[in-house]
Amino acid sequence: MRVLGIEGTAWAASAAVYDTNADPDSIFIETDAYQPDSGGIHPREAAEHMSDAVPEVVETALEAADGPVDAVAFSRGPGLGPCLRTVGTAARALAQTLDVPLVGVNHMVAHLEIGRQHSEFDSPVCLNASGANAHVLGYRNGRYRVLGETMDTGVGNAIDKFTRHVGWSHPGGPKVEEAAKDGEYVELPYVVKGMDFSFSGIMSAAKDAYDAGVPVEDVCYSLQENVFGMLTEVAERALSLTGSDELVLGGGVGQNARLREMLREMCDQRGADFFAPDPRFLRDNAGMIAVLGAEMVRAGDTIAVEESAVDSNFRPDQVPVTWRSDEES
Ligand code: ATP
Repeated sequence: MRVLGIEGTAWAASAAVYDTNADPDSIFIETDAYQPDSGGIHPREAAEHMSDAVPEVVETALEAADGPVDAVAFSRGPGLGPCLRTVGTAARALAQTLDVPLVGVNHMVAHLEIGRQHSEFDSPVCLNASGANAHVLGYRNGRYRVLGETMDTGVGNAIDKFTRHVGWSHPGGPKVEEAAKDGEYVELPYVVKGMDFSFSGIMSAAKDAYDAGVPVEDVCYSLQENVFGMLTEVAERALSLTGSDELVLGGGVGQNARLREMLREMCDQRGADFFAPDPRFLRDNAGMIAVLGAEMVRAGDTIAVEESAVDSNFRPDQVPVTWRSDEES
């Protein structure tokens, strides 16, 4: 079976065809990234980017495929409404033109499933550290349960807001990672409440510290240490509470080497296994949509066009996990 995946929730206009007979690692992914001229992601401009770029990335992915596709899977949410609507329209039109089933994939579940499948772990805790979200999840009784999450902004968005203030171009995460290499620790807020974390206070405090003349390298270093420390603390607590000894990382912020180092060290200390997929599967990409889409098709989990409205607030715990057996926990 071959499934065309289309991703377009925010910045990545991306398409990939997953052939279930091939190694998912070798999947060809074509992505055209939206780069704002200034500031952060502007929803209308990003949607215009989707409408320009999606036909081209889809054409390239279809040309790279070994034959016709059997289904079209698309990111149904969460994400920016104008982008989701544009990409949803393209996916519906393609499915109808090709006369194949349509699959509506939850973007956050795709972020964690690609790591879970590559790791082949039995019952991991999953940390999704992405631009607009931050969730710690565990699988139980047919659903991914949100064990902890951000109480305000997404983790990458908090970092990007700080870098915008400094005047750095989007995306800010890689620039913070680079600058942090020459930094020293200065005090910034660290907020974990129960299993949830908050990033808006530390983002404001980082801006204030920069305005007060603290070297930007020190602010970047401290921002990373605290933000990633919060994620690591909650991930560890989730491992402890669930009794799992497996942790999987997902999301674009997972490309950060310091975050991966902290998580790996924490897992080593507990005797747990840690897995992070390749960067091309961490950031937004259509490969993860095609791979999960194929699982959903196999489970008969397709969607009628008239019921395929997008949902910008689509939570991972709203998704019945039809593609895993009930015995798994
Ligand atoms: P979501 O998946 O929640 O919709 P998103 O669409 O913004 O989020 P992702 O590709 O998952 O997309 O993540 C993008 C985020 O990752 C941006 O905020 C970016 O700054 C951040 N990021 C990218 N590389 C790094 C890095 N090396 N260190 C820290 N953050 C990074």
